[in-house]
Amino acid sequence: MKKILLAIVCVYVPFIAGAWGIIGHRIVGEVADQYINAKTRKAVQQLLGTESMAMAANWADFVKSDTSYNYLSNWHYVNFKENLAKTEVFNFLDHQTGPNIYNKINEMVSVLKNSKSTITQKKLALRMLIHLVGDLHQPMHTARLEDLGGNKILLTWFGEKSNLHRVWDEGLVDFQKLSYTEYTKAINHPTAAQFVSWQKSSLKECIFESYTICTKIYATGIKNDDKLSYRYNFDWIETVNQQLLKGGIRLAKILNDIYV
Ligand SMILES: [Zn+2]
Repeated sequence: MKKILLAIVCVYVPFIAGAWGIIGHRIVGEVADQYINAKTRKAVQQLLGTESMAMAANWADFVKSDTSYNYLSNWHYVNFKENLAKTEVFNFLDHQTGPNIYNKINEMVSVLKNSKSTITQKKLALRMLIHLVGDLHQPMHTARLEDLGGNKILLTWFGEKSNLHRVWDEGLVDFQKLSYTEYTKAINHPTAAQFVSWQKSSLKECIFESYTICTKIYATGIKNDDKLSYRYNFDWIETVNQQLLKGGIRLAKILNDIYV
């Protein structure tokens, strides 16, 4: 059994991309920065100092180069079988004991709320929380185990070798050719109704929403050797932008709730 597990881990790790790329994560942090209240801002600054939430959002990917942080590597996603109903997704999340994006977000919130946590523990928890709430909104982070969240669907993106997971992490966002601040300005226009409804969603509902988008991505029949370019961008960029915006708005709500 141990040998099998080791084999799975060895196959899995090299394929795992970093979730939203550098720009995507910064956009989520930058959007959240615009919706946190004064009390939250003070608490965040006490932990991060001059590091903005946008910049802190990348820490969880940057530490992957340091093996002493390997224990964080499976916090970024949760895999599901296909065709699950909402109650099945919720039930699955309730019964997962191993590390995954759902229980680690909850744990990071607890660490930040706990007056007994050390500053070091809180700083790691805040950086991870900022990152993981972003990842949660990348639909291929709630995808299928058998293709490693789309990492095994090998295709091309504007003629370059890529895979489905990477197109969603970076390809679509980077294609817009915007800095994270320009991008944030471009998408940060939620309607009042969207804002209220997005902030009301529970963490489980956010995961189910990502899973639903993921199901639609697979339903297009996407497969190995597909050649993705302008049309894929046209079909999906609105979804990408809305997920980035939701991620930031919900991150702000989670943080404001911690520091009430
Ligand atoms: Zn990640």
